[in-house]
Amino acid sequence: MAAGKNVAGKLGCYRKIEMRVGKMSKVILTGDRPTGKLHVGHYVGSLRRRVELQDSGEYEKIFIMIADAQALTDNADNPEKVRQNIVEVALDYMACGLDPAKSTLLIQSQVPELCELSFYYMNLVTVSRLQRNPTVKAEIQMRNFEASIPVGFFTYPISQAADITAFQATTVPVGEDQMPMLEQTREIVHKFNSVYGETLVEPQILLPDNEACMRLPGIDGKSKMSKSLGNCIYLSEEPDEIRKKVMSMFTDPNHLRVEDPGSLEGNTVFTYLDAFCEDGHFERYLPEYANLDELKEHYKRGGLGDVKVKKFLNQVLQEELEPIRNRRKELQKDIPYVFEVLKKGSEEAEKTAAKTLDAVRAAMKIDYFSDGELLKEQTEKYKGA
Ligand code: ATP
Ligand code: MG
Repeated sequence: MAAGKNVAGKLGCYRKIEMRVGKMSKVILTGDRPTGKLHVGHYVGSLRRRVELQDSGEYEKIFIMIADAQALTDNADNPEKVRQNIVEVALDYMACGLDPAKSTLLIQSQVPELCELSFYYMNLVTVSRLQRNPTVKAEIQMRNFEASIPVGFFTYPISQAADITAFQATTVPVGEDQMPMLEQTREIVHKFNSVYGETLVEPQILLPDNEACMRLPGIDGKSKMSKSLGNCIYLSEEPDEIRKKVMSMFTDPNHLRVEDPGSLEGNTVFTYLDAFCEDGHFERYLPEYANLDELKEHYKRGGLGDVKVKKFLNQVLQEELEPIRNRRKELQKDIPYVFEVLKKGSEEAEKTAAKTLDAVRAAMKIDYFSDGELLKEQTEKYKGA
């Protein structure tokens, strides 16, 4: 009887450990540069997913990082911009539903361990490998850095690898532009582990499952929506501003009259509908269509004007952004609380990063004073000399 009880007890205990280990292996790291307020591209590309993952309860730890050190790599002469946007990004985070009780919100520069990790990882990456990174290439062009690239900017994929590995992240939910960064990180992890022994965790990218969300275009329809390009709809935008931006959006330039057949190819309004709209929106605002497919068919056939589609998109966006804007206004009333969240989060994050750094130093054999073996060995070496 007693033995049976013991076995059952043990099994229960193993199951618990198994569950804990399973859970412990799931950690999220992701973040944003404090170069402006967050926009709807961030929202569909990463933020919305982060909140879902946070609320799923499947992750042991979730680290959300405001990447100020990275923002300085191309804003070195404008520290005030970075400083001002720390709180803006934190407000946007919490307004979207990131909850400091469930997720650790941190500021990159307040975790100096990340710099040390970057410094060691630099030995594992070649200049030509960095030059091949397509996102860095595109960003160098966008910033007119071709003639003189700041070294810090050029090497930021390495610093991103430090951020991800410092927190032993298994999962990185980001937009498509971050794919080359994740690839670079995985290469560094492989190289590190093969040279110094199994130490770092290999992360997986988690892209949005909807094509339109991977790289939401700006309202100009040109490249991706990006703070640096000024083609954004911000999460905190007032209703009137949202409406104006939607009404000015790029559509099909050949769709001149309502009766003309329209094209969906590169049609920003439809890309946004792909990213935001659900069948329920049709019930509420456009009941003559059952879903987006029907609306698209009508547009392609001809007889559906851009203004009607834009008005619908405006309603969809207003519905999505209103609660975010309202929560943000509430949070704005208590900025000391926001500071407290970031301070506590950064302190907590530093503890995790310090543990990883200890493991990295030990693997790289630069833990001279915590390794009694070295002292013993060197003493032996000179005994009787
Ligand atoms: P910057 O112009 O300063 O680089 P940004 O607008 O590109 O700013 P980041 O802070 O670089 O924003 O990106 C933060 C996160 O948001 C990343 O995960 C990125 O993939 C995602 N993201 C940014 N813009 C978009 C977009 N237009 N569509 C989908 N995801 C996006
Ligand atoms: Mg960017």
